[in-house]
Amino acid sequence: MASQQFDEVADYLQLPQAERDWIKYPKRALAFTVPIRRDNGEIEVFSGYRVQHHLALGPAKGGVRFHPEVELGEVAALAMWMSWKCSLTGLPYGGAKGGVTCDPTQLSARELERISRRYAQELVAFISPETDVLGPDMGTNDQTMAWMMDTYSGYCGHPAPGIATGKPVSLGGSLGRRESTGRGVAYLVNQASGTTGLDITRATVVIQGFGNVGSVAALALAKYGAKIVAVSDVYGGLYNAQGLNLAALEKHFAQHNTVVGFPEAEPIANDQLLLLPCDILVPAALARQITAANAGKLQCRILAEGANGPTTPEADAILRQRPEIFVIPDILCNAGGVVVSYFEWVQNLQSLYWSETEVMDRLFGILGNAYTQVCDRSRQEKISMRQAAMVQGVKRVVEAHRLRGLFP
Ligand code: GLU
Repeated sequence: MASQQFDEVADYLQLPQAERDWIKYPKRALAFTVPIRRDNGEIEVFSGYRVQHHLALGPAKGGVRFHPEVELGEVAALAMWMSWKCSLTGLPYGGAKGGVTCDPTQLSARELERISRRYAQELVAFISPETDVLGPDMGTNDQTMAWMMDTYSGYCGHPAPGIATGKPVSLGGSLGRRESTGRGVAYLVNQASGTTGLDITRATVVIQGFGNVGSVAALALAKYGAKIVAVSDVYGGLYNAQGLNLAALEKHFAQHNTVVGFPEAEPIANDQLLLLPCDILVPAALARQITAANAGKLQCRILAEGANGPTTPEADAILRQRPEIFVIPDILCNAGGVVVSYFEWVQNLQSLYWSETEVMDRLFGILGNAYTQVCDRSRQEKISMRQAAMVQGVKRVVEAHRLRGLFP
């Protein structure tokens, strides 16, 4: 999907073939084993990866995913998307991504600590605050980042907070980082409501995924006045046409680790949830959820892609024929996370910490600018919002490569 999207933009920009390969393929990719001792005393070997897509604009930046489906190709695709995301928002970063093929729900906290530390240790020679900065992604959180930062710092002989972002605030994490992706999604949905003439205070919202992105986006959209009518997680979905009581749902989730079983709603299957009539649909879970099979049947007005790669290229072609649906593409929609990761890294390098208001004001400033640029380009060049975002992102990376030139 990532390659296909890139090839299309490369055609549009008429990039010469040699330049395409230069920009498309990852600069560096590392695959390695992550052996750990399980709690039962047995040794188990997991697969670990880190891909740095390019280093032309600054360090590579991107999350670390712990998920059973992690493999090298997926990590490379996610690294490429990070490049366009960072470029689009004007961050001085190339894209990176990493991961370990494992199921964190089947591992104890101690086992997760061993995987996190072993992962960071294997990367010591490959990363640094100047070359590649780790961040959270699916299956990892602030504790994971703390373990990775601690392990890396041990090798440096001094604290190195700039090696990872998304850390706990007490360890140099940024205020607002945890909420940044979800709040960014809500901010952009509010902008898009303005563009499309939708009254957000009367809007209904369906959210797929109740992790760090989906749950915060739900709260933030509710603050704008929207009504959240359906949410889901890996175990199942919930629907209540009157609107879900988010405070009660959060409490239920904290107790049961799933939205399933929440009494004040009806259960709904994942594939039905995506097709519910609503104003705003937020896929905030895995990739490839909007496909050729369901894209023609979506009943939303705004599709806000909180996840990375939720829409397949075939589905995207269908959506282009449906101008009644306004798409906020993933590389723009979920960019709030990496923007505040960038703020965290800056604060770490300067040892000077910002207030939450400062973080949020700057975040919305950057997202607002990027949104306006993408909308303008989409309108002027008569291309889709996704194509406009991709063009915007790819162009700066191409320019950086051209200006730096080839050595020797
Ligand atoms: N995992 C997030 C993303 O896909 C954020 C990565 C980071 O903060 O480095 O954008």
